[in-house]
Amino acid sequence: MDQVITAQNLVKKYNGKTAVKGINFHVRQRECFGILGPNGAGKSSIAKMVYCFSPVSAGSLIVLGMDVMSKPREIKKRLGVVAQDNNLDTDLTVLENLLVYGSFFNIPARRVAAASVEILDFFALGDYMNDKVERLSGGMKRRLTIARALINSPEILILDEPTTGLDPQARHLLWQKLRSLKERGVTLLLTTHYMDEAEHLCDRLIIMDEGAILEEGRPEDLVARHIGNQVLEIGLGSAAEDDILKCGGDRIRGYQNVGDMMFVYPTDGQALMETLRPLTGSFSRLMLRGANLEDVFLKLTGRGLVEENVPS
Ligand code: ADP
Repeated sequence: MDQVITAQNLVKKYNGKTAVKGINFHVRQRECFGILGPNGAGKSSIAKMVYCFSPVSAGSLIVLGMDVMSKPREIKKRLGVVAQDNNLDTDLTVLENLLVYGSFFNIPARRVAAASVEILDFFALGDYMNDKVERLSGGMKRRLTIARALINSPEILILDEPTTGLDPQARHLLWQKLRSLKERGVTLLLTTHYMDEAEHLCDRLIIMDEGAILEEGRPEDLVARHIGNQVLEIGLGSAAEDDILKCGGDRIRGYQNVGDMMFVYPTDGQALMETLRPLTGSFSRLMLRGANLEDVFLKLTGRGLVEENVPS
């Protein structure tokens, strides 16, 4: 079976308010599929319906060939879930957290114990097996939450904003582990508002905003299709947008303005910078960089992915 998750006209409503507006997507076996979007886009609502925590309001959602509304128990046995909060048992040791969780799945205790040791080693937590959870760092707690979700050898691992609140080093370590899990054959469904996380991990993704899918595809294809290779960031300073457009001519393929910043998509970044030389004295900023998914989101919505008040 190639498609392990299929959503058709999937809707989620809370007290009449529609959080997911009739979306279609599918996740293929052994891929990392991303749901990328800002806060409130509906990412968690989708994840919660997939892991049978929150009922589908309308449409259909098939996971591992079964309907989430009629076969939640059967589906849950074959999923691993990493929800947003760690919800680890802080009174227990690292190992005990896995053993207790494993007992929920009716897996023989001896098998759980053997699997726990192996999984803890994989997540570089083997040396902390007998430590109380409260002594772990944020990154270690998150790795433990993922380790715990793997105790039943799930076919699909669902990760809801897995690296929010982690420092860059902890995020990179986690990304490495998630990539090796995928190589071992686990399908990953990941929600995130970090475009770099989506670019690093996802084979395919949907970009969401306000409960709807704006775009779907491979990260590199989306960037190439909407933006190109490069973005020239211009702080307008005392320059006028019209002057830049006139001066840049057909070396400018497209652009997006946000406040006093202009994000220009050049045909050739270096050549455009040369062309704009007469104006550069009036810019407050000029930077040529590679294009990314954040640019795609900005072009599609006119807004950034991460709001200023969201910690990053
Ligand atoms: P995201 O994960 O992208 O931040 P959510 O799925 O959490 O988005 O939320 C989508 C929308 O649904 C938001 O407007 C949010 O306020 C609303 N929402 C989410 N959960 C509930 C709930 N349990 N009750 C009412 N509204 C909710």
